[in-house]
Amino acid sequence: MAFEGLAERLQGSIKKMRGKGKVAEQDVKEMMREVRLALLEADVNFKVVKKFVSDVKERAVGQDILDSLTPGQQVIKIVNEELTKLMGGEQSKIATAQKPPTVVMMVGLQGAGKTTTTGKLALHLRKKHNRSPLMVAADIYRPAAIKQLETLGKQLDMPVFSLGDQVSPVEIAKQAIAKAKEEHHDYVIIDTAGRLHVDENLMGELDEIKEVVSPDEILLVVDAMTGQDAVNVAQNFNERLGITGVVLTKLDGDTRGGAAISVKAVTNTPIKFAGMGEKSDALEPFHPERMASRILGMGDVLSLIEKAESSVDEERARELERKMRTNELTFDDFLEQLAQVRSMGPLDELLNMMPGAGKMKGLKNIQVDEKQIVHIEAIVKSMTKAEREEPSLLNGSRKRRIAKGSGTSVPEVNRLVKQFDEMKKMMKQMSGMQKGKKKGGMKL
Ligand code: GDP
Repeated sequence: MAFEGLAERLQGSIKKMRGKGKVAEQDVKEMMREVRLALLEADVNFKVVKKFVSDVKERAVGQDILDSLTPGQQVIKIVNEELTKLMGGEQSKIATAQKPPTVVMMVGLQGAGKTTTTGKLALHLRKKHNRSPLMVAADIYRPAAIKQLETLGKQLDMPVFSLGDQVSPVEIAKQAIAKAKEEHHDYVIIDTAGRLHVDENLMGELDEIKEVVSPDEILLVVDAMTGQDAVNVAQNFNERLGITGVVLTKLDGDTRGGAAISVKAVTNTPIKFAGMGEKSDALEPFHPERMASRILGMGDVLSLIEKAESSVDEERARELERKMRTNELTFDDFLEQLAQVRSMGPLDELLNMMPGAGKMKGLKNIQVDEKQIVHIEAIVKSMTKAEREEPSLLNGSRKRRIAKGSGTSVPEVNRLVKQFDEMKKMMKQMSGMQKGKKKGGMKL
């Protein structure tokens, strides 16, 4: 998971601050020394780090903070706010032209994820914004790019405009827009060619396309795994072409996160989306505030709730929420929840969004794979109705019977019972947080 190293180090230095009843200027300095090292190690641009540290220090050593009732938390709050600001502050949304179609040019180096992101963005626009995009195959140089986009189009049932690789990209783009108008597509997403490095030919060609299509949005796709390089590429493209936003791909990998933190500060262009995997639905709007909270280990509760909301039947969710509150969760609910969690995405990714979830060792070890779900299902189905509803009934002989009935073992049954308890704890924590949210934001 991205940011693991950074998150761990920042959280380490933050822990020392949390709950401090008295904070001296020296404590803030000490903490900021650690934060500075952590950021540099995460490959954040050194100028950005310097400014960040000095901004936080300036705010944090003020007498009103040091003399406040909860100075430790105040300092953490400042770090959180400044980190959010660094990554762009408010969420920056994709443009919508006054007069459709909105034209989006996807640019970037080869392998950054342009073609994949073109598909993801089209799907996002259709699914979340009810739009009807046209994808345009204008990368005539990379041999497989056109085919790749066409295949994506088929998979997603999304129209692709292509004229093969013998027509110039400028001409392709021009005709694509005419076609989009004719067929009433409200977004045109042009997948342009990349190169291995920024070069003048490429920029010249992109410039020509830009002249002809007057894009509403030029999105630069950069690979987060390349760290500082991603920032340099962004700077180059921005100076030469003028980009309107960045899509940071491969944030699901174990990048150190530096790019996410420095891109906005260095190029003054917002990160609009983050690519979180190879699949077409693995694209998330980039929320600076949530990302900062995630990095600082305060959890990304809002994203988690949103994910849950989009995959949960509302009535059922209310019923579950009631059960969580009253601690009535049964093994049947557990089974259902596991299936649900599985449909939300990889479990460790979800856990990373939860504050303090790293501490729940039992949960971390749940491998939600098909085989295990089958085992879990078998175990639960071998329980009597009473046992499913009242796990405390499960004594040694009952467990032996269940293990035998499900073709598993007593340790497996025990493991499930333990995981069930952890899940209950997690649910309780989550429902508590949701209540906190309603009351006006999470407490730090
Ligand atoms: P292009 O040359 O810029 O068009 O790059 P592609 O779209 O062909 O992507 C290059 C590789 O990166 C492919 O193997 C993609 O599956 C992969 N990729 C793209 N975005 C992501 C992402 O967000 N996460 C991960 N893990 N892989 C990605």
